[in-house]
Amino acid sequence: MFDTKKKLKNAVIKWAMSTQRVFRTHISSPTNYTVKCAETGCPGKVHGHVPKYDIHWVVTIVVPHNCVRKNLLVKHPNLTSSLIAQLMYTKIVEKKDMEAKHIQTAVKVRWNYV
Ligand SMILES: [Zn+2]
Repeated sequence: MFDTKKKLKNAVIKWAMSTQRVFRTHISSPTNYTVKCAETGCPGKVHGHVPKYDIHWVVTIVVPHNCVRKNLLVKHPNLTSSLIAQLMYTKIVEKKDMEAKHIQTAVKVRWNYV
């Protein structure tokens, strides 16, 4: 269960990054959010929605992947600059002189993606 759609999306992306999988957004509306695996033929899917008369986002469908990664992902398409900004907000604000290079290094160390 999540307070906001943003928190649900971030949890899905963090899971995708840790499992070396890429999700494509299938549905993204004010009350529904569905992502599917980017690999053709893989049933991997996550669906969350806001139930009627509720304010929280609830994940109701999680279909596991059956796709097999041939190569280690070096770059992750779901790891966007806005997600990095959110996840590293405090660190970036505390160190006002933090250069892009330092952020790139921190991302590499923490998530192992370029
Ligand atoms: Zn998959």
